[in-house]
Amino acid sequence: MATQIAPGWTPRRGADKLDAMDRPDILELSLAELEAWCAERRLPRYRAAQVTAWLFQRGACDFQEMTNVARALRDELAASFTIGSLELANVSRSSDGTQKLLFRLRDGATIESVLIPDGERLTLCVSTQVGCAMGCTFCATATLGFRRNLTRAEIVEQLLRARPLATRDVLPAGGAAESSEPPMAREARVGGEDDPAAPPARITNLVFMGMGEPLHNYVGTVGAIETLTAGWGVDFSHRRITVSTVGLIPEMQRLLAETQAQLAVSLTSVDEAKRRELMPITKKHSVAELLAACRALPLPRRKRITFEYVLLAGLNDRVEDARALARALAGIRCKVNLIPFNPFPGSEFRRSDDVTVARFQDVVRRAGLHATVRESRGPDIAAACGQLVAAEERRAHGGARRPARGDAAARADAMNG
Ligand code: SAH
Repeated sequence: MATQIAPGWTPRRGADKLDAMDRPDILELSLAELEAWCAERRLPRYRAAQVTAWLFQRGACDFQEMTNVARALRDELAASFTIGSLELANVSRSSDGTQKLLFRLRDGATIESVLIPDGERLTLCVSTQVGCAMGCTFCATATLGFRRNLTRAEIVEQLLRARPLATRDVLPAGGAAESSEPPMAREARVGGEDDPAAPPARITNLVFMGMGEPLHNYVGTVGAIETLTAGWGVDFSHRRITVSTVGLIPEMQRLLAETQAQLAVSLTSVDEAKRRELMPITKKHSVAELLAACRALPLPRRKRITFEYVLLAGLNDRVEDARALARALAGIRCKVNLIPFNPFPGSEFRRSDDVTVARFQDVVRRAGLHATVRESRGPDIAAACGQLVAAEERRAHGGARRPARGDAAARADAMNG
């Protein structure tokens, strides 16, 4: 499968005034690219770092906020770039504190991000594509088909726009009060290793588990990770970023070589035929190949792969399935995250009952593996990935359009050759 290149930034020399639609998004740039832009204009390099601090640490939305930047430069920046492009179209809030953010993109497409408070943690789940090409039959996003990759800027901006909501709305009772401190100062402190008792006040974890397949948008995903983790960028810890994939083997290997992000692999079945049915990517990379590749990954010390396993009633949740999973994972430094299926309108699967989930977990644990069950969050706001956008589309199309289950799967097949 060819990795699609995210639309990149092309410098436009000599264009003083550009329409907002034509102006490149400054969030797409690395510090080095912004320094090059400054150099072309014979501006001192440090100007670029001032600007990135405003963008990524303080979340500036307007160049005129950048008070330590000379006015002439602010004007030139404003004539040359936009700051972001996401419009927060809707926020739905669940009784458990989960917030689902619906963003409208410049081209009118919509994506979602989910903010999930969980004890000391506040996790943001970001999207990497509009729709998805992988065609997993139990996933709401798959019903949308693949539309396009998100740019690096669009991925990073989900965090920048979610951050202020985390301050005001997501704090569980007893959380930190409002403060005039720049967000990142607190983000670094709260939940930092040196302050384990601090109340959750800032986004502490970032997971690439929203809409899309992050490694099918390799350039956008890795570019976003650069901005998110760089000292000149958001300065988020690599250890707290997890990229979840259906198992695109070459890209997994590249990701591990090029970033220090944590890796999660969505497995859901170790039976070849069953996984081919549930996750068509298995036709390209068999379970055997995927597990062999995982086994061979040069994991740094103390790092483990997370295997996600969506529990589908009567399909992959029997004791034999748990035993088969444990056998297949033997010898891989890993942990297992069991995810009870989150139903969505039109889906043919059912969620495993609690007893079955507990039994499955028990069998996996007895085999010596670390296994957790992902609590279902925000079910009252359709927080499973892709659900909100899928629901929007159903509304927009008068409830008529829900592609047949095989639709997205067929597309994925075609792509995978
Ligand atoms: N494409 C990536 C990331 C997005 S999906 C991947 O597949 O890993 C994130 C996680 O949600 C995956 O583990 C996926 O298997 C799981 N998932 C998808 N649809 C689900 C549903 N309806 N209920 C529960 N988990 C689901």
